[in-house]
Amino acid sequence: MSNKKIEIFDSTLRDGAQGEDISFSLEDKIKLALALDKIGVTYIEAGNPGSNPKDMEFFKRIKEVKLSNSRLVAFGSTRKANIKAEEDKNLKSLIGADTETVAIFGKAWDFQVEEILKTSLEENINMIFDTIKFAKEKNKEVVFDAEHFFDGYKANKEYAIKAIKTAKKAGADVIVLCDTNGGTLPKEIKEISKKVVEELGGRIGIHCHNDIGLAVANSLAAVEEGVIHIQGTFIGFGERCGNANLSSIIPTLQLKMGYRVVEEEKLSRLTKTARFISEISNLKLTDNMPYVGESAFAHKGGMHIDAVTKSTKSYEHINPELIGNDRRFLISEVSGRSTILKEIQKIFPNIERDSEEVTKVTNRLKELEYEGYKFEGAEGTVELLIRKTIGKYKPFFQLNHFKTIVEQPFSNKDFTSTAIVNITVDNENKIAASQGDGPVNALDKALREALESFYPKLKEVRLVDYKVRVLDSKSATGSKVRVLIESTDGRENWTTVGVSKDVIEASWTALVDSLEYKLIKDMEKNLKAYF
Ligand SMILES: [Zn+2]
Repeated sequence: MSNKKIEIFDSTLRDGAQGEDISFSLEDKIKLALALDKIGVTYIEAGNPGSNPKDMEFFKRIKEVKLSNSRLVAFGSTRKANIKAEEDKNLKSLIGADTETVAIFGKAWDFQVEEILKTSLEENINMIFDTIKFAKEKNKEVVFDAEHFFDGYKANKEYAIKAIKTAKKAGADVIVLCDTNGGTLPKEIKEISKKVVEELGGRIGIHCHNDIGLAVANSLAAVEEGVIHIQGTFIGFGERCGNANLSSIIPTLQLKMGYRVVEEEKLSRLTKTARFISEISNLKLTDNMPYVGESAFAHKGGMHIDAVTKSTKSYEHINPELIGNDRRFLISEVSGRSTILKEIQKIFPNIERDSEEVTKVTNRLKELEYEGYKFEGAEGTVELLIRKTIGKYKPFFQLNHFKTIVEQPFSNKDFTSTAIVNITVDNENKIAASQGDGPVNALDKALREALESFYPKLKEVRLVDYKVRVLDSKSATGSKVRVLIESTDGRENWTTVGVSKDVIEASWTALVDSLEYKLIKDMEKNLKAYF
């Protein structure tokens, strides 16, 4: 155990933005930078002002919002071949971004220099030296990313070492060894990092890509050899198979290896931060993502649940509270009375194991399971069902009827469907109509519109995910479907489920549950605040 400080260099906004399906607006980038600052990563690499005008704009805007924990970093390359550093336009933009720290990448693999960059090995060394010297003269802290370092080292060790020694001589503050193609093995990372730490000393960093699924392991292997600076993206996305996942690296270093990474109370923001980043990036966080995923501490099956109830360490490697995640017991056919009791007691703490209420809820769940419902992961619906079954539940509205119309051929490409919803709230009748991309989308919009005048808080709710599963595939279109809807209000996510022979009806059930769940939660919060 070491109490050494490790620097975390987050590149979600730069390398992460290279990931397929990722596109950040300026506003997104500001929000992401603020979230990363709150959890307290050491560095936030925010973009390449030379190659991207949107990034330049970001550096202007971010000055208006003060970061309190992290240092902002602008990213750029070594100067072009055969010109002076001060004549290089991109380098000027890099300095012009006005950050205390800059990250400069340069080539460390002879093959890349000669075959891709098409310049001489000597000129590449000069490019590294001049660029870093130029940045140091402008009083920048310089992080030098030695691109393809490990591949370069394996191909031509002398040249790779010469590249980083040159960077150091020019004044680079941190030398980062990059596994740019992501194919290096932990054993090689260890050996090579060890040699570099011995030969260069000072602050050495690591930048791993995940092409063989080992970016986290590789980063940790480097730390064991004295590397003190880790680059990655917060939830691991990035080009191809992504970058080293910082949401795995940070808690592992801090909770299992004894390093200081972020302040203890900030570590409990880990799950929240990861989910916020996935939200903004419009990428669903995979449920099985280590530490921060929905299933990371979810237990299913009577025996496991029983064991965890006796002692959490029986099936948990850490206490989920440390990183702000929750323990979940999944309701399913295999789960017994004690699991259901636990769910009931979350809402009604005084209800006891042998009470009639537990039997009622258990029977209701069994009935619905028989009809094709599945409650794993659908906590929203389970909670509503408990409230409805135990009888302490007043509906927020009454449906009079709804109607959906699907047009074919489409008169409007964006809106293929129309829905009309007629409801009553406290004796007041309300009709709303809306167009949508498909009947479920139209229905969702119409229902919200009808409800929002009574319950304005529903404006916060957004659909995150919509899944349809056919239950009995033998009878094809005549069979039942199960619809799962995941919703969020930006603070919490919840999932609701509906089952029917009609996909619209199943969706309607899940939609209504989703909105009612939100209303109940808000009502509870208000009551708590009141008492
Ligand atoms: Zn990279």
